Amino acid sequence: MGIDISEISYSGIHFQVQKNGLSNTNYIVIHGDEETAKILIKDHIKTNLGKAFIIKSKNREVTLGPTIVDPNRIFSKSGARKALKNFKTDWNPNELNKLLLNLEKNRNDFLFNIFPGEGGLLIALHNNFRGYNVNDELKNSQLYSIKNNQNPRDFILCTNIKDYEKLKNGPYNIVLQSKVETNNNGSLSWAALKYGVRYINIETRLGWLSQQKKMLHFVERSIK
Ligand SMILES: [Zn+2]
Repeated sequence: MGIDISEISYSGIHFQVQKNGLSNTNYIVIHGDEETAKILIKDHIKTNLGKAFIIKSKNREVTLGPTIVDPNRIFSKSGARKALKNFKTDWNPNELNKLLLNLEKNRNDFLFNIFPGEGGLLIALHNNFRGYNVNDELKNSQLYSIKNNQNPRDFILCTNIKDYEKLKNGPYNIVLQSKVETNNNGSLSWAALKYGVRYINIETRLGWLSQQKKMLHFVERSIK
């Protein structure tokens, strides 16, 4: 048994793929500056079957055409339009539309590459370091369970009610976002939801490797 390494791209945004045998669980790290998540995913895939997708970037924003963009904001048309204007305001409308069309054309191929097989699970690992926390997600959530003894910056986000039911009584903060928002912000969770893919985001403070590891193990133990 060994790890097969290959690469895929979404409109020129490159991801390394580490494949360990066959499984219907995939993992992704989409923000290049989230080092703790990168360390965890690379370690985890050595002993767990599945595919790990790791963005090939050191920075949070990646180059796309004449601008940089948050790679986790380009999985819907509305999100991509907004994200592309974030770091460049003087767009030629034709150039902007061309890039949006290119993303549109490549989006589903990329998504179906990273999505697991029927009924499978996509686990995204994120780290935060700018104050972002579970309270920012409550207004978009249908159900949530906040634990008083947990840091609000460490939390689990899931899109499937059955997964939520299995995870909510554990020790960690958790939210359920199971309702598709048409004008969403273009993050991968909304695309997974749209296509009925079970998605779980494990979010912790940057640097808190042992916490993120415990949360990942808790998730896998609870839902498999
Ligand atoms: Zn992130």
